[in-house]
Amino acid sequence: MATNNPAADQDTHFFGDVCKNFDYAAQFTKHDAGLLDQIKSCNSVYRFRFPIRRGNGFEVIDAWRVEHSQHQSPTKGGIRYSEMVNEDEVMALAALMTYKCAIVNVPFGGAKGGIKINPKNYTIQELENITRRYTVELIKKNFIGPSIDVPAPDYGSGEREMSWIADTYATMNPGQLDAMGAVTGKPIALHGIAGRREATGRGVAIAIRECVSVGEDMQKIGLLPGISGKKVIVQGLGNVGYHSARFLAEFGALVVGLCEFEGAIYNEDGLDVEAVFQHRKATGSILGYAGAKKEFKNSHDGLEQPCDILVPAALENQITEANVKNIKAKIIAEGANGPTTPEAEAIFYKNGGIIIPDMYANAGGVTVSYFEWLKNLSHVAFGRMNRRFEENTNLNMVNMVEGITGVALTPLQRSTIIKGASELELVNSGLEDTMIRSYHEIREIYINNPKIGTLRSAAMVGAINKIAVSYQNLGIWP
Ligand code: GLU
Repeated sequence: MATNNPAADQDTHFFGDVCKNFDYAAQFTKHDAGLLDQIKSCNSVYRFRFPIRRGNGFEVIDAWRVEHSQHQSPTKGGIRYSEMVNEDEVMALAALMTYKCAIVNVPFGGAKGGIKINPKNYTIQELENITRRYTVELIKKNFIGPSIDVPAPDYGSGEREMSWIADTYATMNPGQLDAMGAVTGKPIALHGIAGRREATGRGVAIAIRECVSVGEDMQKIGLLPGISGKKVIVQGLGNVGYHSARFLAEFGALVVGLCEFEGAIYNEDGLDVEAVFQHRKATGSILGYAGAKKEFKNSHDGLEQPCDILVPAALENQITEANVKNIKAKIIAEGANGPTTPEAEAIFYKNGGIIIPDMYANAGGVTVSYFEWLKNLSHVAFGRMNRRFEENTNLNMVNMVEGITGVALTPLQRSTIIKGASELELVNSGLEDTMIRSYHEIREIYINNPKIGTLRSAAMVGAINKIAVSYQNLGIWP
């Protein structure tokens, strides 16, 4: 029942859902019940409030930072700026970060932060005050630091907020050489890394491409193998959705539908993602785009249009018992965290679909955050030491082969072979390798034990086993 206290009206089942998934997967592992309990629990939940000056008065801001598991240090996860944020959600998202990092072999524990505001209602100055004060509160309680807990962007935050955090942390820790490693997702000019902005979306697209490349799995769900021509609907044109759509189109898929708050658009012959994005930027709405054949005022109607792959890349709880039976896609690839409820997932699988789960599908962001953190700790950009050396080695090789064979390469062939890798290329290759390997690790578990039933549970089994090894290595459990 609704009360007049918004804090009490919180939706509190998301962490429960994550725990449900955990408990189900745990049956397929052989760990001590106490160890499983330790892995599942949120270790530290810091809830705090602080005032900011607004207009002629003050406003008290609610905020959280949750460190779910310190089996590896630092803990890692974004900070969500949203009016809807609540403690249950931050706990769930922190737990997902733990499993996500384990799945893609990123050596961090999971964490998440939340600031309960709608950033659109605040001036840049106010947002800066809020972000800096939030950071100070974390510093006061030792909830941030390159070896403690490393925030990153999430829904409602981005490079700008991360640069305020980095600056505040560095100011409060004078002389700390590794201060820039206290937060990732920073602008490139402020010790960020090439490719971080688009990393989550690129990772989602690679995950989908890998999934649809396995012929026998596609046959089971009635799709032809290969990404080329696959019809995709993407929900959300934020950082994750926009880049997922862009890369899927680049890989050869046909983006037929796009959904946002204000509505959805559809064209079975394909939409030009960049043109839609620009149209929305100019008009404030996805609706009215000239290249759409159908428009829906109710955004959720967009999810139910014909397609092969649906990418919910907005928020949690989008696909529920109420709408799952209307989804035409055979594959749901979770760009967002928690977009499908457990009940909806069971129905979707029963109806012959598969779900590429959030904790794997959207792990590209934290993977590249890991690269950024490594860059910050090593104080050198990737490729700086070896790029020219590689180019010289390749040049010598090409000259030698041309000399021996008498075959002259075209200028384009020469430059392609000779070129040393840039930071962006190294980051993208590390990301691609991570996504591909992790997919097959999960699939192997899924295929080898049909009782597990879903890719999510298979991913969770893999994560639990890896985290258990960390606890065993710490000497806490036998
Ligand atoms: N907020 C992103 C996520 O949910 C990124 C986290 C990070 O880079 O630490 O995965």
